[in-house]
Amino acid sequence: MDQVLRDRIFEVYRQADEAVAAQKPICQKSGKCCHFTDYGHTLFLNDMEAEILLEGAVVKSASKDGCPFQIDGLCTARDQRPLGCRVYFCDVNYAEAMPLIAEQYHQEMKRICDEFGRPWRYAPLHEFLAERLEVDAVPEPRISLEIIK
Ligand code: SF4
Repeated sequence: MDQVLRDRIFEVYRQADEAVAAQKPICQKSGKCCHFTDYGHTLFLNDMEAEILLEGAVVKSASKDGCPFQIDGLCTARDQRPLGCRVYFCDVNYAEAMPLIAEQYHQEMKRICDEFGRPWRYAPLHEFLAERLEVDAVPEPRISLEIIK
């Protein structure tokens, strides 16, 4: 990904983190919200976020049930986690502020996407994982050497 675009996305993340922190939502660190099926929700993200989240990752499954980045109850993708993860908290006292913050920064993402001439795509995490699995499943081209006697 272009470094300028990458920096812009991380600036949105920084601002969104700040907006969320100002609301002081409480996280019990149960990790339950990353178990999507059990929790009854789906993590959506745009394709610029997916590119950043999956950078250098080895995708082994594309389940709808949960996030592969959660290991032993902890997020192993904290720095590059998408907006949905940054903005979502189950704290009822934050329920009113959450959709407003989410909307504001998703709109900012859309503006950046337009500015960089990219098509807007917003899809569930498991779709991006499935696409990546397919790419990873294609074997590396092998060079065949023929011994000429
Ligand atoms: S990226 Fe991290 S916070 Fe987001 S769903 Fe996955 S484990 Fe949870």
